[in-house]
Parts: sequence; C-alpha cells; structure tokens
Amino acid sequence: MRSGLSTISVSHSSESVRFSNLKNLLDFVRNDTLTVLCYHRVGDLNDDRFNGFRPNFSASPEQFTSQMKVLKSLFSPISLRDLLDWYETGHPLPRRSVLVTFDDGYRDNGDVAWPIMRDLKIPGVVFLATDYIGTGKPFLWDFAAYCFEATKHERVDVPLLGETSLSTRSERHKAASAWIEASKRLPAGTRKKLADALGASLEVSPPPEVFARLCLDWSDIRRLAKEGLDFGGHTHTHPILTKLPLSEAQEEIATSHNRLAAELGHSVHAFAYPNGSSQDFSREHEAAVQNAGFSIGFSLEPGPARLDEIRLRPTAVRRIYVGQQDRIARLLVKCAGAARIAYGHDRLLEVRPPSVEPLVTQDCSDPRATDERL
Ligand SMILES: [Zn+2]
Repeated sequence: MRSGLSTISVSHSSESVRFSNLKNLLDFVRNDTLTVLCYHRVGDLNDDRFNGFRPNFSASPEQFTSQMKVLKSLFSPISLRDLLDWYETGHPLPRRSVLVTFDDGYRDNGDVAWPIMRDLKIPGVVFLATDYIGTGKPFLWDFAAYCFEATKHERVDVPLLGETSLSTRSERHKAASAWIEASKRLPAGTRKKLADALGASLEVSPPPEVFARLCLDWSDIRRLAKEGLDFGGHTHTHPILTKLPLSEAQEEIATSHNRLAAELGHSVHAFAYPNGSSQDFSREHEAAVQNAGFSIGFSLEPGPARLDEIRLRPTAVRRIYVGQQDRIARLLVKCAGAARIAYGHDRLLEVRPPSVEPLVTQDCSDPRATDERL
C-alpha cells in the first residue's frame, strides 16, 4: 500500500490539499537516509492571549494532524530506540524512516502534539532544556515577546535595536524577533542583563504566572514517558554552546543529562544542540555530548541525514526544521532533500523560518542573522 500510493488527500478546516504523483517526489527520498523532523510548539496560532514567542509555533493542531497522517501514510515512523538499535546492532531501518522530534520542552508537546501522535502510533522525542522544566522560568524569547506585547510605549530606545517604533502589533512582533535574533549573537552570560535592560526600557515586569505553565513539569514528563514518549537533553539553560567557555558548555551538557536521568530513573541517549546550526556547536561539544553519556546528537543542519554520515558522526545528525509556513507539499519537498541542497541559496523553499525586517543596527550580512531557530 505504501509503495503504491501515488495520490493522497488531506482535508480539514484550514487546509485542503490534493497531491498527485507523490510517489514520484518521494522517490527522491533515498533508501539510505533518515528523515528527522524538528518541531518546537504545536498550538493555536490565532489565539489572541499571550502564549509566548509566536514564531516558535511550528504548526497549528490541524496542520500537525495533517502532517502526521501524511508521515504515517508515506513514511515509516521510527522511535529513538529503533535508531539506536540500528546504530548499535545494525538492525535495519525501514524504508523512508522518519523520526519526529521537538525542541525545548513546551507543555503543548504533551497536551496537543503527543495525543495526535499516540493515536496514530507515531513515536517521538522531546529535547528538554532542564532549567525550564517545572520552574516557571521563561525562555529569553518568550520573556522578550511578552515585554514587547505588554509595553505601553509606542516609540522607545530599545537595547540592541536603538530607537524603535512599537505603535502597531506588526511592529512589536518584528521588534521582538529582531531583538531575540540580536541577543543570540552575544555571549550567553549576558542574557540576564539583557533581559533586565529590555524590561527596564519597555517598563514591563512580567508577573510570574504568565510563564508558569508554558513548559512541561517533571510529573508530566514521567507520565508521558510511561505512555511511550522519549526525552533527550537540550542543555540546562539553553545557551548557544559556542557563545560559552568550553568548560561551561560541558557543564551545560552534563547537567541536562544527569538531571534527566535522575528524574526519569533510566539512562538518556539523545541530545539536541540549541539553535543547532554548524556555527552553534563544535567537535569539542560533540565529544562532551558523548562524555556526558549521550549516544547520539542532533543538529539543525538541513536533512535528510544519510545513514553513512550518521555512522561516521552520530553526534551531529541532521534534522529538517518545520515551520508555520510548511504546508504538506513544501514539507514533502524538504523531506525529499530540497532544504539540504538549497541551504543558504534559496529562501523560496523556506529552508529556514520566515525572516523579519532587519531592525537591528549591527551587521546583518550573515545569512543566519534572521534565522529564528531556537
Ligand atoms: Zn531550543
């Protein structure tokens, strides 16, 4: 059935698509590759209430359901255990293997995405930044998004951005994205000062309850693990590792491993690098991942990953970023390898998330400058 499928229809309230000759497109998915998808959040994009930094939503529940149904029809969803068995024992992976992953540890991964996957019997892995689990601490991007939404100022001198107009919702969203992107390029140790300076300039002090339930807590995670969802490390405080001294980066990686193992009560095998581009981690960090006790590490360099590459370098497995604009057709084109081929050359395929107008005054010539990967 799978190999003979040439047409599939996906319909729901917000998306209705019909594709012909998908089999021809998916013939480009080679037998010797693994497709790993990277999601962040799954939720209602049109909800007017504050719910964090909006570009961090990968899909609405309807989009996500459609995507999972297509994966189930056209690919072979595998678990992290299946991948480890292949790596450790050579047990073959099925044709068109796909692994679904999530970064950061948002509550909607468990409340919204996992029930959809569980019903379709699709395994998954959530990579946790352990310092945010059960603590109510906001990620810097969610803190910034709240401050830009809540400020009463319509024009203000914003740290990292300079004089910025905030009179419309669109301007506030663009300013938040630009500020978050600029903040990523600074040393990780400056994040607290940056957050304090932003809150002071915008005259916003978010009440703690705003962020209290954005992320999973440890009791959620133990329950979800019993139901079959896998968990991996994503550092402790989510720094970009190359923005830290090596010893601190090693500590971040080891802390996430040890905390996860202690809370779950079993060994933890997989790690994903924050931000994940080749500039965001090094061979030293890959060694630290293995030294901490992880077997496999995931980047956000575009996939799919070739199995021989994974065999040679299991600590830098490519993944395909999934963003809000990835309707089914584009997602399949990315799965067929277009994102890997077009990387850095063709934004039409949206190999990375939609860019924002560059409001920052410093050098933005780096093509990664508007990359919103978290
Ligand atoms: Zn992340």
